[in-house]
Amino acid sequence: MAYDLLVKDCRLVRPDAVIACSVAVRDGRVAALLDAAETVAADAVIDAAGRHVVPGLIDTHVHLGNAGRPFGQDCRTESRAAVTGGVTTMLVYVVTRGSYDDVLPAYRRAVEECSIVDMLFHLAIVAPEQISDIPRYANRYGVRSFKAFMAYKGREISPSGIQGVTDGELFDFFCQVAGVDGGVALVHCENIELIASTQRPYVEAGRQDTAAWSDSRPIFGELEAIRRALTFAEQAGVHFALPHMGIGSGSEFLREKRHGAARLTVETCPHYLLLDKDHDQGVAGKVNPPLRERAQVDALWERLLDSTVDVIGSDQCAYTRESKGCDLWTARAGITGGTTMILPVLLSEGVRTGRLPITRLVELTSARPAQVFGLYPRKGALEVGSDADLVILDEDREVRVDPGVLNTASDYTPYEGYVARGWSAMTIVGGRVVYEDDRVVGSPGHAQVLTAERR
Ligand SMILES: [Zn+2]
Repeated sequence: MAYDLLVKDCRLVRPDAVIACSVAVRDGRVAALLDAAETVAADAVIDAAGRHVVPGLIDTHVHLGNAGRPFGQDCRTESRAAVTGGVTTMLVYVVTRGSYDDVLPAYRRAVEECSIVDMLFHLAIVAPEQISDIPRYANRYGVRSFKAFMAYKGREISPSGIQGVTDGELFDFFCQVAGVDGGVALVHCENIELIASTQRPYVEAGRQDTAAWSDSRPIFGELEAIRRALTFAEQAGVHFALPHMGIGSGSEFLREKRHGAARLTVETCPHYLLLDKDHDQGVAGKVNPPLRERAQVDALWERLLDSTVDVIGSDQCAYTRESKGCDLWTARAGITGGTTMILPVLLSEGVRTGRLPITRLVELTSARPAQVFGLYPRKGALEVGSDADLVILDEDREVRVDPGVLNTASDYTPYEGYVARGWSAMTIVGGRVVYEDDRVVGSPGHAQVLTAERR
């Protein structure tokens, strides 16, 4: 029987090796890995011409529907941004202050109708009443990752509904997630009570620069919150995943992946690997936790290589200038353009400079995320039976970044002007070509909301 698609002459990258082969696809899945010289019948043939082929990237951290547009509209535009950057699965935070029973069916339909990539939901736990419902949500929806927030209290409660928890609620949250088979507890770690005091002089001085946002939320406060959350996680025996960790120096203790009864996963984001607080972007550089100084960026690359960091998420928020706001102290926090930039940043700053093996890139962007969040080996691998989500790399391609090339709804990005060296030549989702020759060619109607496996 003929295959639907043959991607021939690949240098297929796995976490432990690069192998020469051709990838044969049937019914949206990898049907066989063939010797590169073998000729077989296929309805369509794509020649990878000996280039690196990697599993589609899994962006572990995406926000949709928080920039004033409906969730479905963001699924449409931001899944286009995703495939432009070789991302074929998005792990998306959904937020409600009420019951998730009231919103998840509509979110699911929006993904199926509007997205060109599969998604998995993380549920934000932003009201104390939601904590006791965690096991029920896990059973009913196959959602096993839940996020609580130590920041976002008082005047920082977010218009998107994000509100921080008390220490007591945080511990209850950990205990509930610990009871979920395959459960992962994500926590936004910043000491907001400390920040209320440390940011006062910067507000009073009328500062509007990116460095002021960073310096007003000091590194020691972020590290203290991380240590406190980890202490609670140890006691609860939960799998604790630390999102958006941007501190390279001072975070070495996170290299231990077992802390008593707790297991630890660490995520970082492309902006922490490229941008620093002293290259002033004003309000466009406002993100929580903040950008840090250049020495921290360099040290974070060391954490990428010494296995402190496990996964990469963009923390993308597709604001426009208008929905972001223009005053540093009241504007929304979040970086635009990130989901597209994971691959270019890692290729340009890591693989090309020789500090990041391409095998480690695959481990960070697909294999580990799939393992941590219960999707492996359907996602995160290109083995027989895996979804045929893959990216053919063009490691020589130069792209000067502006919002237009990112195919996002955002009309600005702090990556603007950056010249990436390395981009997706072609992105394939479920055996369908969705991005090629700088254009998004995929259309919605095939995407699914995934469920996370139990352990
Ligand atoms: Zn966060």
